Amino acid sequence: AYDVLVVGGGPSGASAAIYAARKGIRTGLVAERFGGQIMDTVGIENFVSVKYTEGPKLAASLEEHVKEYGVDIMPSQRAKRLAKNDLVEVELENGAVLKSKTVILSTGARWRNIGVPGEEEFKNKGVAYCPHCDGPLFEGKRVAVIGGGNSGVEAAIDLAGIVKHVTVIEFGSELKADSVLQERLYGLPNVTVVKNAQTKEITGTDTVNGITYVDRDSLEVHHVELEGVFVQIGLVPNTDWLKDSLDLTRMGEIVTDKHGATSLPGVFAAGDCTDSAYKQIIISMGSGATAALGAFDYMIRN
Ligand code: FAD
Repeated sequence: AYDVLVVGGGPSGASAAIYAARKGIRTGLVAERFGGQIMDTVGIENFVSVKYTEGPKLAASLEEHVKEYGVDIMPSQRAKRLAKNDLVEVELENGAVLKSKTVILSTGARWRNIGVPGEEEFKNKGVAYCPHCDGPLFEGKRVAVIGGGNSGVEAAIDLAGIVKHVTVIEFGSELKADSVLQERLYGLPNVTVVKNAQTKEITGTDTVNGITYVDRDSLEVHHVELEGVFVQIGLVPNTDWLKDSLDLTRMGEIVTDKHGATSLPGVFAAGDCTDSAYKQIIISMGSGATAALGAFDYMIRN
């Protein structure tokens, strides 16, 4: 059995594994895809102390660092069930059951896609998901934000301070964001809000040059010329397999305390799969360290 078993090999899982292994305890890491979301990221400019890096490069350094400590890495394995008896048990899709005194869940999240032509083609070529990450790339340009919930409207307010113009595209007849955010949004001079609009296509040549939507009342087709599209229709935590094992929020995020502990004793969680307020590389690495120290504290008391 392991002392600490980390499920997930993104920034939070790698950080948790390093912090655990440095305590000299038996540490395993099982991950479907080592690196996680950063494998889909081109430029990273907000990983503090590194002015610019690229996702796959950061993932390779993470792996090298984890391997430095003799962590038992089980790549290309997906966990499907979590249970607790004397030890915590993690069952993999291949049928194997791993046992550990403590488990750190760091299975991350994924952005919900809008699923229209052009989205996949122009990813990282004008189509973006994270305003904190990619907003500055669109300085002085025109962008659209798809989605009028809290994250969409927050993104629009944030982007309006950087870009030339923001068009918010909401499918429903009303924005769903909190009213204080809506008031703030409507007070901005360089924002247009389009409601009742179904996005049909993101257009471009090498990079994005516009967005096409249909007015759901009149069925008229509109095209807006712009250089960027931020898709803000939700970040989905990879926690489906956990819903019968521990407490999740309404959004499916794992509820954690300040030690990274979940509602199941001995099970900790870190990164984008948790109810942390913000989802970023540096934040997930910090919470991975917290969860590992939390797990170590738990172990020496039990
Ligand atoms: P993830 O990176 O999602 O890793 C999850 C890990 O768990 C993966 O290894 C996955 O394979 C594994 N996993 C999932 N389910 C299972 C399972 N059932 N069994 C086993 N393994 C499983 N943040 C920044 O700070 N700066 C940026 O510039 C930036 N740009 C981004 C650009 C894009 C396109 C995207 C998608 C995200 C970006 N982010 C950026 C956000 C950042 O990538 C995430 O906050 C960070 O990766 C979260 O780390 P994590 O370890 O919590 O989860």
